Amino acid sequence: MATMKAVVFKGKDQLGIEEVPKPVAGAGEAVIKITATTICGTDVHIVRGEYPVREGLILGHEPVGVIDSLGPGLETDYQVGDRVIVGAITPCGQCFYCLNGSHSQCHGALGGWRFGNTINGAWAEYLLVPDARANLAPIPPRLTDEQVLLCPDIFSTGLSGAESAHIRMGDSVAVFAQGPIGLCATLGAKLKGASLIIGIDSNELRLEVARRFGANVTLNIDDGDPIPEIKRLTDGRGVDVAIEALGRQETFENALRAIRPGGVLSSLGVYSGKLVAPYEAFYAGLGDQTIVTTLCPGGKERMRRLMAMIENRRVDLAPLVTHHFALDQIEEAYDLFSNQRGGVLKVALFPDAARVRPPVRSHAQAVGA
Ligand SMILES: [Zn+2]
Ligand SMILES: [Zn+2]
Repeated sequence: MATMKAVVFKGKDQLGIEEVPKPVAGAGEAVIKITATTICGTDVHIVRGEYPVREGLILGHEPVGVIDSLGPGLETDYQVGDRVIVGAITPCGQCFYCLNGSHSQCHGALGGWRFGNTINGAWAEYLLVPDARANLAPIPPRLTDEQVLLCPDIFSTGLSGAESAHIRMGDSVAVFAQGPIGLCATLGAKLKGASLIIGIDSNELRLEVARRFGANVTLNIDDGDPIPEIKRLTDGRGVDVAIEALGRQETFENALRAIRPGGVLSSLGVYSGKLVAPYEAFYAGLGDQTIVTTLCPGGKERMRRLMAMIENRRVDLAPLVTHHFALDQIEEAYDLFSNQRGGVLKVALFPDAARVRPPVRSHAQAVGA
């Protein structure tokens, strides 16, 4: 039996590099050889034991690769050797939820999220892709693996925060937390035509990138309560739209306090425990506010659109990929990413160590400062 190298969840705070069976494509499935992948904040939740997955599962849900083999039924659509990405969310396109437009909730709550959750993920040499016809998205020839690395999750999720809020031209928008997803939400607000965009975080380096990605104003949460300043900037009303991109009670509450009556809170964070809406910020339930949540949109058409944005130079996500590691260096990469050391935003992981570009770019170089 053919085997491959993979990073396996071994229980709370434990990852292992193991030799495991190489997957075999069944009908409608494909196997891709992973050329690049990355670590997500959600993976950190999993490794810390805050989101349960089974021990022995291969983690990772952000695949870039090359088609290695195709199961029966896909021969006319794809060829072995095609460069592809696959969304973190892999909808079937045929179930009740998919046909009602809720692709990320395929087969039920959060069901579209399969990689590194309910089935083996992308931190490996090879990945089995289910419902391949709906999910294999060819990479435009001009784009490098690294240019499209954030499409499967971060870029898709971040933009969806702005899309789900139905931001209108001229809207004022506050984005709470400027990690990679918050930064893509800031970019989304700019693309949707927001006039005032306020980026909020505690990390000055991230606030600097936020200004490059479209924030006209940045507020450091360590300097005090941002709400009075947000009110001051919006004639005392509050913003039309607040996007929550962290998944904590404080950021959710601040986002609610930041919106005007009739405003929209678009929530992207992954929460745990109980979430409370304070009486005043919720206007006793009578403020005509809209609270909307979104799980990363996936599927090949979404991926095509995101890659088209990059190919046509509407966006450049390169500043977000700050560090490069071989997949074998997962411990080091995970430690750097999960502890937000060295100005890290996102790390690129390469199963083929020869593809790691030696010197690690500093943050200042990465943002072109
Ligand atoms: Zn993710
Ligand atoms: Zn479905």
